[in-house]
Amino acid sequence: MNDRIYLSSPDVGDLEEKYLLQALRSGWIAPLGPDVDLFEQEMSDRIGRRYAVALSSGTAALHLALLAHGVGPGDAVLTSTMTFAATANAIAYTGAEPFFIDCLPDSGNMDPELLKAALESLTAAGQRIGAIVPVDLLGKAVDYTVISGLASAYGVPLIADAAESLGAVHDGRPAGAWGEVAIFSFNGNKIMTTSGGGMLLTDDGALASRVRYLATQARQPVIHYEHTDVGYNYRLSNLLAALGRAQLVRLDEMILRRQDHRRYYRQLFDGVTGISIFGGDTDTYDNFWLTSIVVDPAATGFNASDLSSALAVSNIESRPLWKPMHLQPVFRQARGLTNGTSQRLFETGLTLPSGSAMSAISRERVGAAVTDFLVSNR
Ligand SMILES: *Cc1c(COP(=O)(O)O)cnc(C)c1O
Repeated sequence: MNDRIYLSSPDVGDLEEKYLLQALRSGWIAPLGPDVDLFEQEMSDRIGRRYAVALSSGTAALHLALLAHGVGPGDAVLTSTMTFAATANAIAYTGAEPFFIDCLPDSGNMDPELLKAALESLTAAGQRIGAIVPVDLLGKAVDYTVISGLASAYGVPLIADAAESLGAVHDGRPAGAWGEVAIFSFNGNKIMTTSGGGMLLTDDGALASRVRYLATQARQPVIHYEHTDVGYNYRLSNLLAALGRAQLVRLDEMILRRQDHRRYYRQLFDGVTGISIFGGDTDTYDNFWLTSIVVDPAATGFNASDLSSALAVSNIESRPLWKPMHLQPVFRQARGLTNGTSQRLFETGLTLPSGSAMSAISRERVGAAVTDFLVSNR
């Protein structure tokens, strides 16, 4: 059997080994340390934001971003239904209620028209809105111009879930530079990884301090362990920050490799009736984290899941897009404004192996398996 080809496996090598060993040998094994400080500095420089706080995960970053804005029970938080559960879970941790907004067909990103309608109706009903949390789906930046305009018009803080979109740009400004706060994830399958980790970025110094405080068990600055708030153990370890610093050096190179995969898949499906590359014709707002296709069964005579099963036989991983949150049993009670778009994307979308560590040989294997399937299903 051929080796398994994954959707997006970690891309680490000599540089990561070097940085990690240096950190290990420096003696900074405890959480925090010089690599955490440098990682924060390098990320805030890269994104162009004043403050960056390294945290143990993207989920932790979302949780603290919400808490630092005072979000809690009684609040509704408007977020994308087309996302990974972490976004909705972080909202639930605070006691607030997620309110799910459907998406645009091209990008899967929050539909600004629906967001506007939800803001209007919830405000009219006297519902307090704690925050708007749009998600840059699969690395495609949302239309921050429109969404931040709506957020300020309604006086609601914008917390950008940029977990998937490090390296993407909207209107000349990087993902992560938008909103009162933005968060990134460095989980193992993301565009760059610390094995597990996340970061919160903001230009608000008081907010950054509050987040640091809450992330370190809310310890008062005295030696005898004084606490006036419930805190969390959410900081990133120094060893993992070292790994992140090496990944950041290689980020642009890794993005280029993913972009090249996108180009390859575009050619592979060029002229195949009923299959399109997800994300439309423009790649300008994208970091190419994952490449997905949309299969129209009426035109092809097969479903996305048929292709997925054929790839699985060749030991190639592929996955549907996220299953929308409003269809998840755990959130069945949550309110929202949905129109079927995310459900259709869930049913017709398929994500293909896109990792920056995927070799040309592996990619050819994916291409050959796809071609075999298309030929036998013509
Ligand atoms: C990965 C992800 C997160 C959570 O990040 P972790 O580091 O895994 O906690 C949050 N939101 C989205 C959209 C993600 O894809």
